[in-house]
Amino acid sequence: MQSAVEKSRSAISQAVVAAIRSAWPAGTERAALHEPWFGGNEWEYVKECLDSGWVSSAGKYVDEFERRLVEFTGARHAIATVNGTAALHVCLQLAGAGRDDEVIVPALTFVATANAVSYCGAVPHFVDSERNTVGLDPRKLREHLDAVAECRATATVNRRTGRRIAAVVAMHTFGHPADIVTLAEVCREFGLPLIEDAAESLGSYVAGRHTGTFGLLAALSFNGNKVVTTGGGGAVLTNDDLLARAARHFTTTARLPHQWSFVHDQIGYNYRLPNINAALGCAQLDRLPEFLERKRSLAARYKDAFASVSEIEVIGEPPGTRSNYWLNNILVADAEQRDEVLRQTNEQGIMTRPVWTPMHRLPMYAACPRGDLATVEWLEQRLVSIPSSAFLGAARG
Ligand SMILES: *Cc1c(COP(=O)(O)O)cnc(C)c1O
Repeated sequence: MQSAVEKSRSAISQAVVAAIRSAWPAGTERAALHEPWFGGNEWEYVKECLDSGWVSSAGKYVDEFERRLVEFTGARHAIATVNGTAALHVCLQLAGAGRDDEVIVPALTFVATANAVSYCGAVPHFVDSERNTVGLDPRKLREHLDAVAECRATATVNRRTGRRIAAVVAMHTFGHPADIVTLAEVCREFGLPLIEDAAESLGSYVAGRHTGTFGLLAALSFNGNKVVTTGGGGAVLTNDDLLARAARHFTTTARLPHQWSFVHDQIGYNYRLPNINAALGCAQLDRLPEFLERKRSLAARYKDAFASVSEIEVIGEPPGTRSNYWLNNILVADAEQRDEVLRQTNEQGIMTRPVWTPMHRLPMYAACPRGDLATVEWLEQRLVSIPSSAFLGAARG
C-alpha cells in the first residue's frame, strides 16, 4: 500500500511529466537535457578548414571567432581557448591566484570552477548562493568577509587560515545572471579582483550589459551542452589590454614571436582553440540569436505549463536581467519529491538531472574553508534541470 504522501509525490511527478511535454512542440515525447543543434553553415566552414589544411592552432576562423565574440559581448578582448576550464585557469593565473592563496567560489557550481583554483595551487573557499539568482550571494559574501578577512596594506588575508585571499569567482548559474553589480561592490570594498565564470551565460545581460564584462576577467565555455558549441572550447574575456596580451601569450606556450626560433619566456600552456573548432563556433554564432529566441520561448512555455502545478516553482530570470535560459530548472518541495520526479521523468524518456553535488561535499574539497551554506544545501535538495535544447522552443514567426 502506498501512503497518501507517496501517492501525492507520485501524482505531482506525473503532473511534472505532463507539464514538461505540454511545453514542447506537438508530437515530441522524449528529449535529452541539452543537445547541440547543427544545420547552418557548420559543414561549409569545417570543410574549408579541411580543404585548406588550416585545422590547428592558426587560421582565419580563430581570429574571426574572437572578433565575433568581442562584437557580441561588448568585451574589449576575447581569447579563444581549448575549453572553458582552461579559460578559467588562465583567468585565475592572470588575476594572481597562486600557491597557498585562497579563492572564493560559490559552493553550488560545476566542479571546473573549483578545479581551476586548484590548478593554480590555490585553495577554493566556499560561500553561499542566493535563492533568487542561484548565484553567489553578495550579502553572505560581505558578512563572511567581515567575519574572516583582514585587509592589510598588501593583501586581504583570511585570519583563520593565515592565507591570502586572491580573488572572488562569481558564476552565472544556468544562464541566470548573478547579482554581479553588488558582488563587484563587495569585491572593491575588500580589494579583491572579481572573475566571472560565464561558461553558462553567453547571451545573458544585466541592465543591457553582457555577463562576463563586469569583472577583471571572465571565462566562456563552448562545450557540447552549452548554448553554442565548438565541440570543445572556451574563451577568456577582458577589457584590459595588458591582461589580454598576457592571456594570448599564456595560451600559446609563451613563445616569443620570431620567424624561426623557439624561445619561451615562461611556463605557458597549449590552450589555444584549434581553427577547426573555431570554424564550428563561427557557424554556431551565425545562429545564436535564433537559439536565444527559441530558448526564451521554451522558458515562457514552461512557465505557463507549470502555472497550474502549484507545488512546483519554475526558476526565472532575476529582475533587471535578461537570461539566455541555458538550462531550465524547477524547484520541488523536498529531496524525496526531487528523487520521485527524477525517476518518473527519466523512465518516460524525459531527461532530467539534479543540480551538481555542492563542492564542499566532494572528497577533494571537503576540508576547504567555507562560510554558512544554508541556501546551497536547500537548493541542492530541490532543483531539477529539465530539457532545454533550443529546438524545443519556437522561433518567432
Ligand atoms: C561548462 C562549465 C565550465 C567548464 O567548461 P568546459 O568547456 O566544459 O571546460 C565551467 N564552469 C561552469 C559553471 C560550467 O557550466
